[in-house]
Amino acid sequence: MQVRVLAAVAPAPPERVPLMEARGRALRRAVVAPHPLPPFDNASMDGYAVRAADCAGASASAPVTLPVAGVIPAGRVAPRALGPGEAMRIMTGAMVPGDADAVLPFEDVERLEPPGGPERVRIPRPVKPGENVRAAGADLAAGAGALAAGRELSAHDLALIASLGFPEVEVGPRPRAALLSTGDELLGVGEPLRPGAFRDSNLPMLALLLEECGARVVSATRVGDDPGTVAAGVRAALAAADVALTIGGVSAGDFDPVRLSLEAAGGAELWRVAMKPGRPQAFGARGGKLFFGLPGNPGSVACVFETLVRPALRKWQGFAALDRPSLEVRCRVAIASRSGRTDFVRATLEWRGGAWWAAPAGEQVSGHLTPQARAHALVIVPEEVERLEPGASARALLLRWPGDPA
Ligand code: AMP
Ligand code: MG
Repeated sequence: MQVRVLAAVAPAPPERVPLMEARGRALRRAVVAPHPLPPFDNASMDGYAVRAADCAGASASAPVTLPVAGVIPAGRVAPRALGPGEAMRIMTGAMVPGDADAVLPFEDVERLEPPGGPERVRIPRPVKPGENVRAAGADLAAGAGALAAGRELSAHDLALIASLGFPEVEVGPRPRAALLSTGDELLGVGEPLRPGAFRDSNLPMLALLLEECGARVVSATRVGDDPGTVAAGVRAALAAADVALTIGGVSAGDFDPVRLSLEAAGGAELWRVAMKPGRPQAFGARGGKLFFGLPGNPGSVACVFETLVRPALRKWQGFAALDRPSLEVRCRVAIASRSGRTDFVRATLEWRGGAWWAAPAGEQVSGHLTPQARAHALVIVPEEVERLEPGASARALLLRWPGDPA
């Protein structure tokens, strides 16, 4: 099913944004170095710039002594090249003068400052050409590829882009998302409980998951189970956003309003993708807009989000990697499944004996919230597998890095 969703999604045209707004966005045009990095040969330590050839044969018992022809602070350029048999004091990051090919750190040499006389430096060892010099282009040559398109830009990537002189970056736009939570039984977070009612936990979860995967949530509304109100809400959501998502009301209950509003959702189809948790779902793509009818149970919503929504929104933005990172794990206990259906087991992970060991994070009930909060990963039990024995290997989608207290 993920294949069908992805086939319906095309990357949106890119936009240019300032560097400081590009973190976490999809890089849409490969970055090529317009100049070498570093741009010039420079000292990696405070010391003396020399010609290695002038120090050949130097030793503690027979040091070479060179006159000091000047001082080069960082950001300045030596007024002339280094003459044969000369040294120049140089600071870290300063441009190495022409004809010098090495830098000796202060701690390796002896500074001689005779009163009234010119400064000299005593060198007690030979020097290798290139020693303590960061060569121009050693980090990146001019014209070399710095970053490939499709990357999720990190602060480190943006540091590299900044050093290459690009104040703006071409990235995937952020999809606008509109959320509609349905159910006469749902309460807002601040409302007191009453018999028959639950607080709406899916609306905040989805809004945050959407923001986390790059979307901008333009509306998040809760409505009851009146089909007319839901249909109007779906139309408004599709008008205002690139992706509209409903929560609940998509199953076969007597009052399930989303199932009754598929026409309003641009003719979305009802699906029963064979996954647990996660059934049923609705999906539609029309006029460049996406519609997801998500189930109501929190565990199901979270799973459908990971398997269908996140990959679709990441493709829309132009990311090369669509899924969460995944790990190979081993099962601490047996995990039963059913053939013909993919199970996603909310699990905690522990690193032991060179492997990640996964154990179910509580009872796998789609309506329960605590397994979802505690889980580090979703262990995937493929369709054709009926049971994973203790010690068996499986793949797991990483939801969070293990380490926090439960
Ligand atoms: P439904 O498909 O609408 O029957 O919903 C299935 C189950 O999920 C029901 O127990 C609902 O109360 C619950 N549910 C639906 N929407 C939400 C929500 N936004 N937050 C928490 N639980 C929900
Ligand atoms: Mg409902």
